[in-house]
Amino acid sequence: MSVTVVDHPLAEHLLVSLRDRTTPPPVFRTLAKRLALALALEAIRDLPTVEVAIQTPLESTKGRTLGDLVAVPILRAGLGMLEAVTELFPEVAVGYIGLERDEASLQPQSYYRKLPPVDERHVLVLDPMLATGGSGSAACTAIKEAGTPASIRFVCVVAAPEGVTRLQVDHPDIPIFTAALDRELNDHGYILPGLGDFGDRLFGTE
Ligand code: URA
Repeated sequence: MSVTVVDHPLAEHLLVSLRDRTTPPPVFRTLAKRLALALALEAIRDLPTVEVAIQTPLESTKGRTLGDLVAVPILRAGLGMLEAVTELFPEVAVGYIGLERDEASLQPQSYYRKLPPVDERHVLVLDPMLATGGSGSAACTAIKEAGTPASIRFVCVVAAPEGVTRLQVDHPDIPIFTAALDRELNDHGYILPGLGDFGDRLFGTE
């Protein structure tokens, strides 16, 4: 399974502000969306395309279009990445998986799942913080239970080595796209150096 660290200078630039504790929620939201856009573009770089015939105002020609895409944000932090994907691909179908971490066991608890048909479609799982990998892995399992996608790609902002290993073990077929591979998790399951609680910073709930 592959891990792609998107090292575009713009991605690095945006990540610095997201990490900065003084960045307020309105700015955090805007920057998270911009970074998600860069990550999504990288995640679909090798997506197969379909040849189509079209007519320009002058003559007929051929072009290539993307196949069917599904975006699945993991609630709630994944919502901070969704708008970038729906703006890039207005035809995208969107599913939601609600998982929250039990702060004592650090295990994901499912509280919501609503997925569109995933058969033969390319699925982008959106979860900004790949920490323990518990939620990410559970979301990928849920998508596989829902059908047979053409591919699943995991898109995050920051990944911890522990989360990468967990996904690699549980879902070796799913590539990861991230803006940073951070050092480690702390005792509370937060990524170091990380950027804190993504959902809290996005929604101003800290
Ligand atoms: N979720 C977050 O929002 N931040 C972390 O550091 C880990 C999990």
